[in-house]
Amino acid sequence: MSDPGKLTQVEDKLQTLRAVGASAHFLQGEPLYHQLGTRHYQAAIWCGNGNALLQPAKYVKGLLDALPASVTLYENTDITGLERLSQGRVRANGVAGRIEAQQVLVCLNAFISRSGIDDSATFAMELSASLTRQLTDAEYQAIGAVEPWGVLSTRPLGATVRLTPDRRVMIRNTAEYRLRDLSASELRVRREHHVLGLQRRFPFLGAQDIQYTWTGHLSATRSGQAFFDRVEEGVFAVAGCNGSGVARGTLWGRLLAELASGVDSPLLQSVMQRAEPGWLPPRPFFDIGAMLRMRVEAVRARTEI
Ligand SMILES: Cc1cc2nc3c(=O)[nH]c(=O)nc-3n(C[C@H](O)[C@H](O)[C@H](O)COP(=O)(O)OP(=O)(O)OC[C@H]3O[C@@H](n4cnc5c(N)ncnc54)[C@H](O)[C@@H]3O)c2cc1C
Repeated sequence: MSDPGKLTQVEDKLQTLRAVGASAHFLQGEPLYHQLGTRHYQAAIWCGNGNALLQPAKYVKGLLDALPASVTLYENTDITGLERLSQGRVRANGVAGRIEAQQVLVCLNAFISRSGIDDSATFAMELSASLTRQLTDAEYQAIGAVEPWGVLSTRPLGATVRLTPDRRVMIRNTAEYRLRDLSASELRVRREHHVLGLQRRFPFLGAQDIQYTWTGHLSATRSGQAFFDRVEEGVFAVAGCNGSGVARGTLWGRLLAELASGVDSPLLQSVMQRAEPGWLPPRPFFDIGAMLRMRVEAVRARTEI
């Protein structure tokens, strides 16, 4: 390994994964190459059983299709704040309407402050990613016709890369703390960064092979733990996915509903005990500190992007 600090305590990690039912293996050299079809990575923990890669857009759309008739969904409905009414009721005010309820679950992640909850100790980060065209049959054979995979870096700012079942490569190798959203031209610069990352792994792929590039926000915390709480009577909120929101967020959503319903469980207790997002200094000190920290992390992850 060129930087052994990137993957430490391998045996402990394998034991932990196996203890929760995963079939985990440490891979290096040729076996790792045959798993991924690229020699970019030098060591990894391969994890199967109980792990699955999912297509998040399909997953969310599937959930929408499966909603019971008792649930009414309002898409594209911006909530501008919550208002306390009499008898414990809460009103969610929107641009084009309002909804009143006895209980409100706020699951806005990076956008939580839009509901008026300003003290979640979370902050927004902006990430960008690209997806290539499908590999040709010849390209796919050349990388060993490997099974679809997903690679997560052990460094917080390292790249997430996937080979999808329809043989595209997806790369997310930027994550930034910013005061303004990325403009179209700034996103084009991030796209060049994606191209560099692609070429380090699959030299035959270039800018012309990227079909989609996009940017989005996630909610981060200083400690890496979520904000998960009963904010006040009838108002419950979760934020601070720290980048693993699709899997953990699904669990948090269920547990938040259980908390609001008065259902207790060891899992809920465990999540509530861990939900300490950590103190954030006031701005502009926080802005300066966050930007510096991101730069340090980017340097630490430089062989991983
Ligand atoms: C480029 C990128 C790559 C990522 N890659 C991965 C990955 O590989 N694996 C992984 O697990 N996670 C990944 N993530 C993180 C993942 O997307 C998030 O953790 C996940 O989407 C969090 O889900 P959520 O429902 O909590 O929040 P979100 O998906 O952010 O949903 C928040 C919702 O709130 C809505 N909203 C905002 N403001 C308002 C308002 N005022 N009123 C009403 N609604 C509002 C938004 O429209 C949005 O639908 C990635 C994120 C990005 C940006």
